[in-house]
Formats: sequence, C-alpha cells, structure tokens
Amino acid sequence: MNGSLTGRTALVTGASRGIGRAIALRLAADGALVAVHYGSNVTAAKETIELITEAGGRAFAVHAELGRPGDAATLWAGFDAGLRDIGAAPGLDILVNNAAIGRSKGIDAVTPEEFDAVFAVNVRAPFFIVQHGLDRIRDGGRIINISSGVTRIAYPETIAYSMTKGALDTFSLTLAKVLGARNITVNSVSPGIVDTDVNADWLRDNPDAWAHAAAYSTFNRVGEPADIADVVAFVASADARWVSGQNIDATGGSHL
Ligand code: NAD
Repeated sequence: MNGSLTGRTALVTGASRGIGRAIALRLAADGALVAVHYGSNVTAAKETIELITEAGGRAFAVHAELGRPGDAATLWAGFDAGLRDIGAAPGLDILVNNAAIGRSKGIDAVTPEEFDAVFAVNVRAPFFIVQHGLDRIRDGGRIINISSGVTRIAYPETIAYSMTKGALDTFSLTLAKVLGARNITVNSVSPGIVDTDVNADWLRDNPDAWAHAAAYSTFNRVGEPADIADVVAFVASADARWVSGQNIDATGGSHL
C-alpha cells in the first residue's frame, strides 16, 4: 500500500485462496507485478487476479499441480510464458512458497501414502521450485517460505504436516547461508490458526472451536489472512534487507 515494490516481480504459490491470495493482494498493492500460482481452481485464481486489477495492480496466472514429477519445471515454464505474454522483463524478485496441504492425523493413523503426499507438496515442491528458479531470482531478492506455529507448539494430531514445516524451516536457514552472497534473503513466516477455507469445516460456524482457537492467541482472536500478508510484505520489503535465515512468528503470540 506504499509503492515500495514498484518495479518488482513476485510469485506466490497457492494464491487462488486463503493466505496466498491475501499475500498476492498485498504485494500487488505495494506495487509488485504478481504471478498468481494455482493448482486446480482456475476460477479462484482468476478471482485473485480480478481483485488485484480492480485495485489498480498487475497480475497473471501460473498453473502447476505441485507434488508431481516435473512440477517445478511446469511452474517456471508458465511463469516465463506469463511474463512474455504481458511484455514484462524476465526475472523474479520475490518468491513466496505458500502452497501446502495439511493432514490432520496422529502418528497412529497416517498412511505411508499420506506421509509421502504431504512431504511432496510441502517440502519437495518448494525445494525444487527454488532449485529450478535460482537463475531467475535476481540478486537482492527474497524467498519467503510459509511455515507454521506447529514447529514451536506440539500438535500431535498434525504430526506429519508439522514435520514438513520443520523441514521447511531448515530449508530457509540453510538456503539463507547459500544465497547470502547474492544478497538474497530467505526466511520462514509462521502463521498460527488463521480463518481460511482449509479450517472451515471445524472452525467456522462452531462457536466452541472458534473460542478454543482464539484462546491460542494472546490477543484472543483467530488470525486473518491479512495478518500474515502484512508480515510477508515487510519481509519482502527493502526494510528487511538485514533479516535472513529467520523463522518469523506470526501466530499472535500463541507461544506465550
Ligand atoms: P488453503 O488450503 O486455503 O490454501 C492453500 C493453497 O495451496 C490453495 O490455493 C491450494 O490450491 C494450494 N495448493 C495446495 N496443494 C496444492 C498442490 N498440490 N498443487 C498446487 N497448489 C496447491 O491454506 P491456507 O490456510 O491459506 O494456508 C496457506 C499456508 O499457510 C500453507 O502453507 C499453510 O500450511 C500455512 N498455514 C496455515 C494456517 C491456517 O490456520 N490457515 C496455519 C499455519 C500455517
């Protein structure tokens, strides 16, 4: 909302809804050209783009089903084509690895197939998206991995999902070291419980669950997607140039 990202290009995975959509809107509002990645819901991705363009921003869609062989190559081919189509310069300044799936099961119930699937989308995909994107990400750029407060507070019922976020944090830490020489910062941003569609079935229209979820935060409310997007906007900005290899807690003080 300040033009600080004017002239920058951002790619947000899983930007068709939820936190990813809010991040895409915020980065576009700050002036970035935003690549709106989506997996299956092209209609929702188009809605994100409409919201951006109605607000005076610029965006285009990139399709790739993550967690499959060749997903990173497909994503980057779509990104390159999207830039060409709108006549924008090649290259990327801000990569936000946001797309993820959850598996709400305990250690007694997670199947090997579910374990592999959640790691394929939440860990393998960001890793190879970065590997294939290194020559596109400009020096001075930003890589932001959306992690979770579950790496600091134990949730037995999401154990495999929680493990993927721990791996993602280690990725942020290590990659920050690798890319420091190029002035590229790499950080995790960790939401707590946020009111998005993925939580709709147990959270919305359930006052008891809502009160329980709100009580995790020291502010006694459930997080909104914009609470996370605003933190991401800071990490993406020039003001955060001296912050790298961090896991930034955006849980409303849930650990307190
Ligand atoms: P969401 O399910 O609403 O959105 C996830 C997005 O990722 C969707 O756009 C979805 O299409 C995309 N996606 C998922 N699997 C994909 C695949 N295989 N290929 C392509 N795209 C795929 O989730 P959200 O609540 O907006 O969460 C966004 C991020 O925040 C995730 O990384 C999540 O782990 C993290 N997070 C969320 C919460 C919360 O309470 N909502 C809490 C902590 C962390």
